[in-house]
Amino acid sequence: MITSDACLSRYGDPENEHNMQVWHAPAPLMAGKLPAKIYCNRDLIGPLEAAFGNVIERGLIDEIDSWDGCFNIRKKRGGTTHSLHSWGIAFDINAAGNAFGKPPTMSPALVACFTDAGFDWGGNWSKPDGMHFQLAKFPETDYGQA
Ligand SMILES: [Zn+2]
Repeated sequence: MITSDACLSRYGDPENEHNMQVWHAPAPLMAGKLPAKIYCNRDLIGPLEAAFGNVIERGLIDEIDSWDGCFNIRKKRGGTTHSLHSWGIAFDINAAGNAFGKPPTMSPALVACFTDAGFDWGGNWSKPDGMHFQLAKFPETDYGQA
């Protein structure tokens, strides 16, 4: 699992946003599902495209109820280290019904769209965060620090 320390060494201070890019969501998902443009880390874009490609291919668009954010500089809930949202390599979906600390209601098929594409799912954690997905490992490509 990627830690906030690993993010600090790869990306630097979260206040320094040089790794961020705009991702254009696939058209079939823009009808009230995802925002047209999502501001996220460039490392997220490949896995994000693969994951939402899985959602479309597997006929699960209807299971995406809401996009609940990606880039957001903040501490982990109840913690002192930064959430991976701070570097734009985590995102939340379907927050209603998948609240932090509650049993998730997301279907295993939907979860698999994301875990198959290289994400860790917060719903598996000892204190579940069912809405939360984060990059499982950094891509091979090292863009280097600007
Ligand atoms: Zn989250």
